[in-house]
Formats: sequence, structure tokens, C-alpha cells
Amino acid sequence: MIKNNVQIVKKEDIEIRILREKCISAATCIVYAPSTFDLDKENIAVVKSGEWDRLEKIIAAAQSCPVIAIEVYVKGKKIYPS
Ligand code: SF4
Repeated sequence: MIKNNVQIVKKEDIEIRILREKCISAATCIVYAPSTFDLDKENIAVVKSGEWDRLEKIIAAAQSCPVIAIEVYVKGKKIYPS
């Protein structure tokens, strides 16, 4: 779901939010978690459907983002950025 230019995707306990306005297409998130992130036609990061990477990799991907465009929640609690 994309609302107010934020993509929100939830799977089991993990929720990922991509703040699309911030994304500068650096693609480092894809290097760290290639099964979770991709770029769309506009070269903005999106969360992929299908099997995601492990949580550690998803967090590493979020930490790698130079503009902090990725937020990670676990069981409704914000894990990154804290
Ligand atoms: S690392 Fe950040 S800026 Fe780069 S594509 Fe991913 S979300 Fe966008």
C-alpha cells in the first residue's frame, strides 16, 4: 500500500515503510537486502512481495540508506531509526 507517498508493507511481525519522497535511488538497500528491496519504474525503492531477507539484513539495509528513507517496525515498535 502506498499512502501519502509512503509504502507500508507488513509481514508477520515486521513492518517496513519506505518514505518515497526521501529516496534518492542510491540502491544500497538492495545490496544489503536484495530479496526485500527493489527499485520501481521511477527508480524509487519498493518493498518486494515474496520471501524477504532475514530481519538483520533488513535493518542493515535501512541503516545503509544515506537519507534514512526506510523505517523498520517489529511488533508495532519502531526498531530503526530509533
Ligand atoms: S538506500 Fe535509501 S535512497 Fe537508496 S534506494 Fe534504498 S531507500 Fe532509496
